[in-house]
Amino acid sequence: MQNSIKKIAITGGTHGNELTGVYLINKFTTNPKIIHRDSFKTISMHTNLGAMKQCTRYVDKDLNRTFSKAALADDTLTSYEDKLAKEINQKIGPKGSKDSNIDFIMDLHTTTSSMGLSICISSTDKLTWQAAAYAKDKLPELNIFRWQGDTDDAAFVSSIPPRGFTIEVGPIPQGVLRADVFIGTENIVHTVLDFFELHNTGKLDKHYDSVEIYDYKKLVDFPRNESGDIVAMIHPDLQDDGYKKIDKGDPLFMTLDGESVNYQDEDTAHALFVNEAAYYEKGFAMCLTEKKLISLEF
Ligand SMILES: [Zn+2]
Repeated sequence: MQNSIKKIAITGGTHGNELTGVYLINKFTTNPKIIHRDSFKTISMHTNLGAMKQCTRYVDKDLNRTFSKAALADDTLTSYEDKLAKEINQKIGPKGSKDSNIDFIMDLHTTTSSMGLSICISSTDKLTWQAAAYAKDKLPELNIFRWQGDTDDAAFVSSIPPRGFTIEVGPIPQGVLRADVFIGTENIVHTVLDFFELHNTGKLDKHYDSVEIYDYKKLVDFPRNESGDIVAMIHPDLQDDGYKKIDKGDPLFMTLDGESVNYQDEDTAHALFVNEAAYYEKGFAMCLTEKKLISLEF
């Protein structure tokens, strides 16, 4: 059938301290029957063994920002992750190729932010969006976040094959394994595999015209002093409430002295990746998004 999916990759350990993906890949590799579906082949693999060994996000740099076409083509980039990215690209890419070794990828991540079950998509591919809409239909608690910051040449692992997305589940600390997060993530994986089995065999009973998403608006950094030190924390009202609706005047931060720092924009936003530990070094405290229904008839 047209657009049939022949090979899917499930990857984990892209960030070596996000253990849910690491251990789910252990489970799938030990017993591949779990992820077997008759109409396509599924492979599972760890992506960053060096970081996993250290239980750190990365060895030299963030692997999940290392897959731009320019970086992949640049032989002068020789950090651990730059070399690794080129190896991974050969296995599941090459990126941009019509004959990519893999048709669809799910890269498994966790977040210290209270985001529940989430899928993060940069792709504009129709089938990828149908898969996400199907997953949302089957798992209503699932949230879909659209990141279009650098869609033309996204540098994520999930950007290597022509189709795919990142799964983010939390909150969970780095370096920690929790059964509920493990089960929730595995449920998303199975739901998406089921979608492609139905798609390949012509048994999908529904086409999705639209889906509710949280669309990227902007990143917000912590308030800082002249030296660049953080001078305020995430406000307690926002701390454990992922995807919270925020209107002008609502508190975003609380200074060390207890004063609120409020949202000043006129337009309503929803906050994601609030207080994600890995983003302190990137210089942002949260991502603001717009909740909307988007058409999938593009
Ligand atoms: Zn991650």
